[in-house]
Amino acid sequence: MADKKKIVMNWASACGGCDVSLLDIEEKIFSVLDIADILYWPVAMDFKRQDVLTLGPGSIDIGLFNGAVRTSEQLEDALMLRERCKVLIAYGACACFGGIPGLANVSDRAGIFEVAYHETPSTVNPEGVNPQTVCRVPEGEVTLPEFFDTVYALNQVVRVDYYLPGCPPTEERILDAVNIIAAYAHSGELPPPGTVIASQKALCDECSRVSTRTGARIARINRPHEIIADPGLCFLEQGVLCMGPFTRGGCGGTCISANMPCRGCFGPTEKMLDPGAEALSAFGSIVGPGGEDALTIPEMKAAVNSIKDPVGTFYRFTLPTAIINRTLKDGRNKVKK
Ligand code: SF4
Ligand code: SF4
Repeated sequence: MADKKKIVMNWASACGGCDVSLLDIEEKIFSVLDIADILYWPVAMDFKRQDVLTLGPGSIDIGLFNGAVRTSEQLEDALMLRERCKVLIAYGACACFGGIPGLANVSDRAGIFEVAYHETPSTVNPEGVNPQTVCRVPEGEVTLPEFFDTVYALNQVVRVDYYLPGCPPTEERILDAVNIIAAYAHSGELPPPGTVIASQKALCDECSRVSTRTGARIARINRPHEIIADPGLCFLEQGVLCMGPFTRGGCGGTCISANMPCRGCFGPTEKMLDPGAEALSAFGSIVGPGGEDALTIPEMKAAVNSIKDPVGTFYRFTLPTAIINRTLKDGRNKVKK
């Protein structure tokens, strides 16, 4: 008889897709209930944070944490789960690497508040008020979580045991995680700490188009909407930037089979220090009609400038964990000692 495990699912800075993805396993969700009791999953059931706070250290077996850490409340949640969970899994690209919310690190809190509360055409804020953590009203004191200057991946604030990447994780990889929980319930066995629940190889290794990849130069960059891509040909051969060589496999090529290039949501393979920098370096050396020596400065600039939104292209899901993970501009974003 399996030792039923206690699991929790927490939603931090994320779109909600990860929370919902757990339901993508359809009726197999009932097999989870056979091996585990869900103690906390606010998006699906009526649980309160207080339900977790009353539990003692180490009293939860497995915590699934989705979303990046952007506010003081999300940091408290991460610390709360870390203290109470024997195993903490970063669930989805935002928890693993910062994800789409992590792109906010191209600005800082002041810059974000400036746009959101002062500059957008729909903003009506004649008194120029920014969100405050404490606000006194006739009825008493109202508090809000602090909005941090920086977005963090989960392992930048607490220790993480396992990583389940994807935006969101695919059904097959979620079932891998369920099988890990089942094995834990039956035998108490767990994979080595730090295991990424995905392929150990790059996405290209599982891509049906890889045999057409020659490594030829890209004369110009085509954005996906500018051409109708040949579904049998590697995107790079067609001048469309694809993050497949720099991204961990395991998604089954979801985007490729929809004739869209990979954007990197499974994050880097184990040996890759910084997928964005690797991609930037690799693409930089093949973009343009000839090598650097064959190009004039304006031609070189035109080739480089044909890459629109370089941060969003190379670091769409990984900016907070990148080597270069913040921008510095106009004296803002000063590194705090
Ligand atoms: S670069 Fe993209 S399209 Fe080409 S083989 Fe790799 S994953 Fe497939
Ligand atoms: S193809 Fe790339 S972006 Fe699309 S699901 Fe797979 S890893 Fe994520």
